[in-house]
Amino acid sequence: MNPLVLKLQPVTVRPHHFETPHSYLDRLCAVNVIDRRLVDSLIRTRRSRTGRPHHLALVIHELGGPHATHFARSYLRATGRRPSDVDTLLTEAYRTRLTGVRHTCTYCTAGHSVPTFDHHQFTICLKHGRWLAPDHGHEHQRQIPDPGEWVRAERRYRRAVTSGLLTRHLVDATWRIVRDQATVLGPPSWTARLRATEAQPGFVEGVDDRCALYPQTARVLHLLSGPRTWEVIDALFRSPEHLRAYLRRELDWVTGEQWVLVEALAVEVIRSRSARLQQLGVLLRSHRDEQLRRPHLPSATP
Ligand SMILES: [Zn+2]
Repeated sequence: MNPLVLKLQPVTVRPHHFETPHSYLDRLCAVNVIDRRLVDSLIRTRRSRTGRPHHLALVIHELGGPHATHFARSYLRATGRRPSDVDTLLTEAYRTRLTGVRHTCTYCTAGHSVPTFDHHQFTICLKHGRWLAPDHGHEHQRQIPDPGEWVRAERRYRRAVTSGLLTRHLVDATWRIVRDQATVLGPPSWTARLRATEAQPGFVEGVDDRCALYPQTARVLHLLSGPRTWEVIDALFRSPEHLRAYLRRELDWVTGEQWVLVEALAVEVIRSRSARLQQLGVLLRSHRDEQLRRPHLPSATP
């Protein structure tokens, strides 16, 4: 193969949900018996010649893969990020080193490991009932313990993360806070599943414990994603005791002592509130700047 000329390949593959461009190119090269190192060297040459970050995307498209915008759009949907300009977007979507680890359900990929963009859009493959082990390798994926309860939790989780009211930081903090509540304050009834899981051979911290506490985590996120909760937070953020009382009332399903959950959540929601306000301030500022930059249109009135 002439390294400067790429031919449309006879076999194409479908990209998996949120699959990274590197993973896609690996699979495309494998089915068409193309030397991946040769393709990498071509991409490096083109990048150094032009300084543009997305030649990987163009190479994929030339070989018969999806259009160059596919992975950029997929990256935006997966991460919810809004990079400031196109070059930053392309650099992030096509970077070689990935942050975080996510893999597509291995039942959906016939056992193959398919890395995806780091995202928090879903945690269970509803088709196969697989726990996708966020931040761990595909070998840690599991069948969910109870299809009814865990599928309900997954639907609740997806609604919560698409509400637009949860920052990524708050979602990550909630996982940790629910686990701390369950492990620090002894075994009330809702942590029985965690205790049973911890006692099983092969228990993996960060995988089995998160899976065991998923219904409770989704329940807390569901509460935090409600507009009513944010109205209360906006009204009570200067009055921590009233805010804690609200959280205690709403989280009364947490039997026994609730203080770890309530204290830590109160801190995190107030932090999240100020992050959202800052973000809103940046958006309003850029909107105002945009308005100021626009030439004034002539008035419609005679
Ligand atoms: Zn699946």
